[in-house]
Amino acid sequence: SAKDAGRGCFQFYSNEMNAKALQRLRMENELRKAIENQELRVLYQPKVDVEKREFIGVEALVRWENPERGMVSPAEFIPLAEESGLIIDIDHWVLKTACAQAVEWQQTLGIEIPVAVNVSALNFKQDDLVEQIQKALSMTGLPPSQLELEMTESVVMRDVEENTVRLNKLKAMGASISVDDFGTGYSSLSYLKRLPIDQVKIDRSFVRDIEESAEDRAIVNAIIAMATSLKLDVLAEGVETDEQTRLLKQAGCQRLQGFLYARPMPAEEAAALLKAGFNKLEAATATTPSEV
Ligand code: C2E
Ligand code: MG
Ligand code: MG
Ligand code: MG
Repeated sequence: SAKDAGRGCFQFYSNEMNAKALQRLRMENELRKAIENQELRVLYQPKVDVEKREFIGVEALVRWENPERGMVSPAEFIPLAEESGLIIDIDHWVLKTACAQAVEWQQTLGIEIPVAVNVSALNFKQDDLVEQIQKALSMTGLPPSQLELEMTESVVMRDVEENTVRLNKLKAMGASISVDDFGTGYSSLSYLKRLPIDQVKIDRSFVRDIEESAEDRAIVNAIIAMATSLKLDVLAEGVETDEQTRLLKQAGCQRLQGFLYARPMPAEEAAALLKAGFNKLEAATATTPSEV
């Protein structure tokens, strides 16, 4: 039993390590029940095209509203969810919720907007990934063309041969593919043209320092130039200032996502914003002093 094993190992652990392990175990057990207990929430962060002056999509971002811990950010529980395998259930739940939400917006408000979900490393490797996504689409009635799948660069660029097959199946289904956190994985750029992807999302860490750092500006410019010449869409994440917007536009990136435009927000708020339209958003950001 666990008790016997615990007794055997006891001498090797300091009290502090025991406390940490216990805390993790407790959190894992709570997370295990989170879906059942309806403690997970999905926030939606709009993405904009600043040239076309329109909303081009929303990204579904999970939160865990725990009765004791309050609102827990994914940075805190996704690593644990990955290790324990719980991420698979979480991702499926987020996928179904986001698909259903997009259909509801279409039906009740006449808003047709692509919804993006994050696919974890572990989930991406599942044999029934395509089946699961297909199921979510048919259950909710969302057209596959309205679903975007975001996979991080480190996941997509590992085992390129195998992933090409995998991604082709997702593409054949009609969904579109974005490479998330792009620029952080040090991957060979030549792989990009071999993979069936639609968009790269420039990682926030480069956008953050684009004003001060000539190196980051050079990296961002290179990614935009390369993506454009490969006929991929390119989006910059984490845009917080007008100056970042100006530099990104100047470099040829018009698809932006970040707090300057909209924070991740509950579905009703996102719907109101989408309904009001891009011009309303610009008027609002113009009158709000940007946070520094
Ligand atoms: P990500 O997919 O790269 O998502 C973007 C993150 O940047 C989000 O953090 C978003 O709130 C944040 N962000 C957006 N604009 C700005 C900005 O202007 N400034 C700053 N400082 N941050 C901004 P969040 O929601 O905490 O999510 C963190 C990461 O957790 C995500 O990074 C994604 O990798 C993961 N994640 C979130 N939801 C899910 C999910 O449902 N499934 C999986 N597998 N991973 C998820
Ligand atoms: Mg993402
Ligand atoms: Mg990202
Ligand atoms: Mg990121």
